[in-house]
Parts: sequence; structure tokens; C-alpha cells
Amino acid sequence: MLSRKALSISPSPTLAIDALAKKLKAEGVDVIGFGAGEPDFDTPVHIREAAVRALEEGYTRYTPASGLPELQQAICKKLLADNGLTYTPAQIVVSNGAKHSLTNVFAALLNPGDEVIIPAPFWVSYPEIVRLNDGVPVIVETSRQSRFKVTVDQLAAALTPRTRAIIINSPSNPTGQIYTRDELAAIAGFAVANGLYVISDEIYEKLIYGSEEHVSIAALGREIYHLTVVVNGVSKTYAMTGWRIGYTASSPEIARVMGNVQSHATSNPNAMAQKAAVAALEGPQDCVEAMKKAFAIRRDYMVEQINAIPGLSCVEPAGAFYVFMDVSGTFGRHYRGRLIGSSDEFAALFLENEKVAVVPGTGFGAPDYVRLSYALSLPQIEKGLSRLKNFAGEIR
Ligand code: PMP
Ligand code: GLU
Repeated sequence: MLSRKALSISPSPTLAIDALAKKLKAEGVDVIGFGAGEPDFDTPVHIREAAVRALEEGYTRYTPASGLPELQQAICKKLLADNGLTYTPAQIVVSNGAKHSLTNVFAALLNPGDEVIIPAPFWVSYPEIVRLNDGVPVIVETSRQSRFKVTVDQLAAALTPRTRAIIINSPSNPTGQIYTRDELAAIAGFAVANGLYVISDEIYEKLIYGSEEHVSIAALGREIYHLTVVVNGVSKTYAMTGWRIGYTASSPEIARVMGNVQSHATSNPNAMAQKAAVAALEGPQDCVEAMKKAFAIRRDYMVEQINAIPGLSCVEPAGAFYVFMDVSGTFGRHYRGRLIGSSDEFAALFLENEKVAVVPGTGFGAPDYVRLSYALSLPQIEKGLSRLKNFAGEIR
């Protein structure tokens, strides 16, 4: 018998769909992959060059468990400049991607049975990472009417003596919605009043397309600063998904405990990737602007096209690079004689017949939806959406 806990963990559906699309592509199938949350751009050249230089300069050995001091410094500078947050390097833990950072966070914070409030729709890995660390995910459903944002009243209704933390992800994967300063201030007040930690996943902070501003909840006062663990990384902003560098900023005590955990789990994040991350954070930022411009054009196109298809719709995402499409209008209807009863069936029929991969909303805690990433080229998007039109046109 294997570990009951590990056996209860489901595989990441985003990675599974992406792997399936890549496999079909390798087999010669003309598949369009809206699955992966992975920028299609190459890592900017100055970042790649920094890694090559690091390799030649001998960054091929263990680094301190919580990261190179130089990178911790660069992260502190970034947090001050972008987010108005003051941290010392001892408060920064660099990990193998933000996903690993989240694993460290819950390893450090949770005792068995501790509850973590996760507003739905949520990123697929949150509940599983909480459960891997013996916590209990408490899902709070939000609605399209509130632009998928959780309110303090909803948080209060979910509060129990075992509540330990709340996860806030703004801009959100999968909805792309962004919390305003006032909304965050209300959540901060609730967290402080109840002594709850806030895990603030800010990995999409640079990918905002309209006039909304990104605010870190940690910047909204001394008390919330101490209760917040900021999670961020270079994967999305700098097209560095494969480099595996993420980080946290927290109280020194939480950072120390996470560093201890990490020292046994992985020793340290990859040395040359850390040097590349320094180049990303400290180098020119025009590469981010260029990627953002391309994402904005794709987003506008996707939203317009999808909302013009009868039976399908989406709320405009303000940030990140996903469109969360409501497919519930197709439930109970048929595609070429086959019943669509769920978003899983919608996604399966769409892939089977039109060779387009999307991620069903089930894994995001939103079964009426499917998620389409727009981190793929415009010609690919155009082709994928024209197949979507064909597919929807055959639903009766
Ligand atoms: N948080 C969110 C909301 C994400 O979408 C992702 C995407 N993988 C991550 C964290 C983790 O990113 P990474 O591990 O590549 O840094
Ligand atoms: N975060 C991305 C996504 O949601 C990458 C895959 C993953 O890590 O889940 O698609």
C-alpha cells in the first residue's frame, strides 16, 4: 500500500492537457494547444547570456539553501521599487519555481487539520499543495457577478477555529481578474482581525492590460505585512517557465522555517538559473513590455471572438493570459449526437473532433467553464477559434 495522502493527490490537469497536446503534435496531429499557462516567447537573450556567463564563471555548485545573496538582494530591490515593500535578504527564500515556493509556505504554516480558505475559481495546484502538507482546503465559491472575487462576508462565513490562511491570487489564474486596493484592504482587515495568514500569489503582476493597478496586500499596513507571504517568480514575466525560479517574501521567522525545509528537500535552486533571474530582475524591462503588448492584442481578439459565438461567453480578463469561457450554455445539448453534460465532456469532444486542447474548469473549482490560454501565437489563436466556431456551430 502506497501513501494514502499521495494516492489522494490528482495529477495537475493543466500539465496533463499540455502534455497531451504536445504528444499529439509530436505524432503529427495539427493540434492547437490552448492548455498551457506558458508564454510562447523565448527567454530574452540578455537573460540567456547571463546563464551562459554564470556557467563559465563556475556557478555550478551548491548555493545557500534559500538562494544566492545577490538574487535575494535583487528581489528585495524589486519588491521595494514595484510594490513598496521593504524586506531584508533574510526574509527572501528562492525556490524551484513559485509552485515549490507554495509547497514551502504550507509546509511551514500548517499543522494537520489546519484550514486554508481558497476562493474558487482557483489555480489547480492550490488545494493539492495544501492537502500534501496535511491542511484542509476550504473552497469558497465566487460568482461572475462579483468578477470572481471573494468578499469579506464570504470569508467570514467560511471562518472556523481551524482557519489558518487565505490564498489571494491577483491577477488570477484562471479568471484574469484583479483585486482593487479597497477590496484588498477589506480582506487585510479581516485577516488581521482574525490572525490569519494571507498567501498572496502575485506571479501575474506584470501582465495587466488595462488601467487596473497591481497592489500587493502586504503593502497595506504593518500588521498585514507581517501576516502575508508574498509569492512571485520569473516564469511568467520573463518567459522563464523551464528555469524554475520562484520566491517568497515573508516574516524572517517563516522564511527561516521554509529555508530549513528546503535545505533538506532540494538543497537550493539551480545555481545558474539564479544568476539568470538576477539578470531578469535587474536588466532592461522592455522585453516585458513587448510581451505584454502581444498578450493584450491576443486577449482582445479572443474576448471579441468568443463573445460572438452563440452559447459561449467570457468576462474580459484584466490580467494574466487566460480566458475563462462559460460553456454551461451547451450542457444538455448534443454535438454530432453526443451529449455534452459537463465542461470535461465539452473539452474532450472539442479535442477529439477539432483537435483543440482547452482545460476543463473542474480542476479550477468551476465546472461551468473551460480555460483557454492566450500564450500562443495570434495565427494559432485564429485557427483555434475558427475551429471553436465550427464546433459550437454543430451543437444542437
Ligand atoms: N501560481 C500561479 C497562479 C500559476 O499560474 C503558476 C503557473 N505555473 C504558478 C504559481 C507557478 O509557477 P512556477 O512554478 O512556474 O514559478
Ligand atoms: N500555471 C500554469 C497553468 O496554469 C502552468 C502549468 C501548471 O504549473 O499548472 O497552466
